This record gives sequence, C-alpha cells and structure tokens, in this order.
Amino acid sequence: MNYHNFQVVLQEVPGEVSLCFSISGCPLRCEGCHSPFLWKIENGNSLSEERFIQILIQYKRLATCVLFMGGEWYENELIKLLKLANKNAYKTCLYTGEEQVSADILDELTWLKTGAWKQHLGGLNSPETNQKFIDVKTNQILNNLFTKTKTL
Ligand code: SF4
Repeated sequence: MNYHNFQVVLQEVPGEVSLCFSISGCPLRCEGCHSPFLWKIENGNSLSEERFIQILIQYKRLATCVLFMGGEWYENELIKLLKLANKNAYKTCLYTGEEQVSADILDELTWLKTGAWKQHLGGLNSPETNQKFIDVKTNQILNNLFTKTKTL
C-alpha cells in the first residue's frame, strides 16, 4: 500500500490534531477530483508497518488522531494500521468516497467520512453535500461541526 503524502492536519477531524495519510490507488475517479495523483496505485512510497509505527511514536505528544484519505481498497493492510493506531492510543478516521465500508474496518474507526466528491454539492461544510461525517459508535452524523467552522 503506497501513500502519496503525510501531513499533520487540523480541520479534517474537528477538535483533533490528525496525522493524515493519503493512500494511492483510489478507484472512484470522481469528476473534478482534487487529488488525481491518488488514482495511480504505484504513485508515492510504500507505507510499511515500520514506517507507520515510527511516525506514531514521533508524533505521540502532538497528535491525537490518525486519518486515512482512502485505503479501504487495501482492507487487510488498512485494518492492520488502524489497529496499530488504536493500540498507540490514537483516535482514528477514514475519509472514503464510498457510501459504506466493511464492518471489520468500522470496528477500528472512531469517525468515518462517506460519499464521493460532487462538485455541485460541495464538501462537508456545504449544507447541500452528499457527504457524511459520522461518529461510528453512535452512528450520529456530525456535519454540523463543519458548517459551524464555516460561519465562524
Ligand atoms: S474519492 Fe477522493 S481521491 Fe478518489 S477520485 Fe474521488 S475525490 Fe478523488
């Protein structure tokens, strides 16, 4: 499983400092995709367990959450990394363009963002969006956290 980049981000998971990994090989090809460099499976570098653990340890005092931008198409590998994140006391989030992911992936997630990118509907901060930001345990949709950010 290759990742295109790794960043520390503040807005994608409200209230959390997230270690964000963008995974290569997105099969969805949404029109107007903001990250077409993620389409090719061979782009980026391999995200080995060793490299991942190194980052988790390095950022332990700074970050609170691990966020994957895609990667559900590598189910077993993704689950392994999510388990490692949980074991190291991080919360976890997946941004997927799908409407749902497997129960095994859900088991390892704190939050899930679903829905493909549709330019005319906008992202999570748009009231018309098709996308949902979900608290996995309660199944509550928390898009209001993003629309609030917009109006502040
Ligand atoms: S899910 Fe995201 S990365 Fe994949 S094609 Fe759609 S916008 Fe691009």
